Amino acid sequence: MEFPTPEVAAQYADLVAAAPDLVVGLDFDGTLAPIVEDPTQAHIHPDAPELLLELAPLVRGIAVVTGRPARQALALGDLDVLGAQVAELGRELTVLGQYGNERWTSTERRVVSPRPPHGLASFVREVPTLLRRAGAADAYVELKGLAVALHTRRLEDPRGSFARMLPLLEDAAQRHGLSVEPGRLVVEVRAPGMHKGLAVRGLAERLDAGAFLFAGDDLGDVEAFNELHAMREEGTPTLVVCSDGGDGPEVLTELADLVVEGPDGVLGLLRGLVEDIKAGPSTLA
Ligand SMILES: [Mg+2]
Repeated sequence: MEFPTPEVAAQYADLVAAAPDLVVGLDFDGTLAPIVEDPTQAHIHPDAPELLLELAPLVRGIAVVTGRPARQALALGDLDVLGAQVAELGRELTVLGQYGNERWTSTERRVVSPRPPHGLASFVREVPTLLRRAGAADAYVELKGLAVALHTRRLEDPRGSFARMLPLLEDAAQRHGLSVEPGRLVVEVRAPGMHKGLAVRGLAERLDAGAFLFAGDDLGDVEAFNELHAMREEGTPTLVVCSDGGDGPEVLTELADLVVEGPDGVLGLLRGLVEDIKAGPSTLA
């Protein structure tokens, strides 16, 4: 593994040394699964399950932390199958869906979820009017239970439609007491007060993490990146990894310790991590 600076190499070595206490948090789309035109077809990278199964017994815990509903991530990642295998090894796989609002673990094997936010139903009723006003009437409306996501990827002018609809959605979301999460050609509207930063903090506390690696690729991962930096200031070894697909937001690469090339790069890093943990920390000196 090539590291950009000696500091990052040292941070990585600290994670390897702390492997039994290490929690590995991974975003799904663009990080574990290649970005595809049709989000319902975004399947996990074919090499990921085997690799995660190899990593699981070496670390404290592995979690998929995604904006998708937990059930969707479970299906697209075959994560219930992986979870059962991880459980057999005496470890736990966690899936945090909808930015941490939903939790599934391979131990409980059910999705724990709060009630849909107040104001979401009335906001959703307003969506067709908002999209028409934005000239994006045919945007794909994904009802996620606790949120609604508006996708412009399959429209004729995806970027223009996105830019026109964003301010209208922000204004309406504010009126309904909801918060807005822009992503890549998708805007998600959901309850305020939850984001991936709180999700990774909760995970670290629940698993009593002594070290943390997080990888993500989009604006929804920024809070998690910031939280890992905060953990590091508190003395916990962390590594912030940006999965760069070439069109991701710049702020991610700026906040990351390490930038890797998409899901292939993330899996390459994890493969190296498995090998280095197995070899022992002394070999990295
Ligand atoms: Mg992503």
